[in-house]
Amino acid sequence: MNVIDRKSLLYKTDVEYGDYTINHVEGCSHGCLYPCYAMMLKKRFGVIKDYADWLEPKIVGNALALLEKEIPKYKSKIKHVHLCFTTDPFMYNYKEICDLSIAIIKRLNESEIKCTALTKGVLPEELMHLGNQNEYGITLISLKEEFRKEYEPYAAPYFERINSLYKLHKAGIKTWVSIEPYPTPNIVDQNFSEILNAIDFVDKIIYGRLNYNSQVTKYPGYKEFFNELSNEVIEFCKKNNKEYHIKEGTITVCKAI
Ligand code: SF4
Repeated sequence: MNVIDRKSLLYKTDVEYGDYTINHVEGCSHGCLYPCYAMMLKKRFGVIKDYADWLEPKIVGNALALLEKEIPKYKSKIKHVHLCFTTDPFMYNYKEICDLSIAIIKRLNESEIKCTALTKGVLPEELMHLGNQNEYGITLISLKEEFRKEYEPYAAPYFERINSLYKLHKAGIKTWVSIEPYPTPNIVDQNFSEILNAIDFVDKIIYGRLNYNSQVTKYPGYKEFFNELSNEVIEFCKKNNKEYHIKEGTITVCKAI
């Protein structure tokens, strides 16, 4: 596996539900084609050459050494650390990346820092043994494997993601699902309630629309569509006593015709 060194690791993110974050891998083998915003940015800034380059993850070899230096510096400011916003901490079939993510979470927990992690891979069972202060999530925007193979070609099959999350839930750990970036029906025609019911055990749902894809605005009434689904999430969460967060820009005011 390719290894790189970085000068720093922990940083404060501007992402709306984030606090501090860590991206200890460059690139992501999941290769999402919605497109992936992180890949677009890395390409724009010349960090990666192309899609093929993005698909070859490079692990940050000095990640744990950097943590040792940075934890004392930031500890008093950190509410929680999220893994990850520009890569995936549990990349499907990449044990080395999963092991490093677990080691990072363990180290942060030793300093009483809570972690959250989000993946399109499989959440390892070892996470059960790290205690229940952390929160783990999966991204789930469909249950259709044909869609997954086209848009998230190298990520874990949906049922594997859900099963791994369910095991952590059964172990008493707080779980969540990010239903983002959610596509319009001209991209995939699917039953939204089926997705909500498949993850009815989680503690929190984050919902957000698909951006940066020209197909979305070609769907007539796409704004109303996202408004309706946002309301469905809110109703579902209120009824089932769950936390929720609707991402900025997903609910919009529609012009009267
Ligand atoms: S899993 Fe996330 S970081 Fe990886 S390619 Fe998909 S959207 Fe990008």
